[in-house]
Amino acid sequence: MSDELERLEREATDKLESISTEDELATWYRTYLGRQGEVTSAMKGISQRPAEERPAFGQAVNALRNALQEAFDARQDNILAASLRKRLNDEAIDVTLPGRLPQAGNLHPVTKMIRDITRVFGLMGFQTVEGPEVEDAYYAFDALNIPQDHPARDVWDTIFIESDQREIVLRPHTSPMQIRTMEQVDPPVRVVVPGRCYRYEALDATHEWHFHQIEGLAVDTNITMTDLKGTLAEFARQIFGQERKVRFRCDYFPFVEPGVDFAIDCMFCEGSGCRVCSKTGWIELLGAGMVHPNVLRHVGYDPDEYTGWAFGMGIERIVMLKYGIEDIRHFYQGDVRFLSQFNRVLA
Ligand SMILES: [Zn+2]
Repeated sequence: MSDELERLEREATDKLESISTEDELATWYRTYLGRQGEVTSAMKGISQRPAEERPAFGQAVNALRNALQEAFDARQDNILAASLRKRLNDEAIDVTLPGRLPQAGNLHPVTKMIRDITRVFGLMGFQTVEGPEVEDAYYAFDALNIPQDHPARDVWDTIFIESDQREIVLRPHTSPMQIRTMEQVDPPVRVVVPGRCYRYEALDATHEWHFHQIEGLAVDTNITMTDLKGTLAEFARQIFGQERKVRFRCDYFPFVEPGVDFAIDCMFCEGSGCRVCSKTGWIELLGAGMVHPNVLRHVGYDPDEYTGWAFGMGIERIVMLKYGIEDIRHFYQGDVRFLSQFNRVLA
């Protein structure tokens, strides 16, 4: 072998031995065995040699190339094995450490309460239906026995969004679905209507400008106030406990006659009087009553043949009462610390 090739072999072998990383290995390969590498250019030098030396020189370069390739492969195996050992060591997982639980989401307390309440009514034969949040004033007021000039129209601080030809509102209550449902089907009707409602109100601990209601409606022949009392008592006991006492008192709503307010005895003080029940021992849950004959007429039901009752309640209020929440604004501030508390307490 020529001196030149011997020098090349020594240099390449020495360098290869000092290499410890995969990057250096790649550089070494390019330098000696690559297409622009020194072994290749040595081979190209063959043409400058006298013809009789060429075969031996060619063999010597080939032998050098093979020897270096072999040395390279062996070094590469070593380095890869070492780096694998290092990674296994560095990335070792201590399976004895306690795991970190992923944070799971949960349903909003209002959503859960809607499900609880619709389930209670579902067991009593009520179907759950939903309606539009952007509503025609006809359904929100007129058909519910609240004509344009009726003073009761001011009771709902309605958000109007269009008033040129037709009055379009963000529904201030879920009651429009009473009308929409009765327009669609003949009696018997048994529905509950959960949904979001809107009112132009200043925010405080008990008022939000948007909130949720559940409307209930039952219409058939021979539906009486007794049916209303039995149904609402069952609802209250399912949600607030079997020992609850219930109270009905006269109240006024334009779409019912007679109207009632429905209350349960206070579960915080068992009726003896506390801050939550304003020392009365009773907590008002909702308004209800026998469907006004005018409402039945609006949808083409004969009030001499059919009677019915309806109720409407605020969901947030029910959740607040059940869990002792003092401020309605908690529901819509998106504070996960508040919202995730209900993971366990609600079914
Ligand atoms: Zn009380």
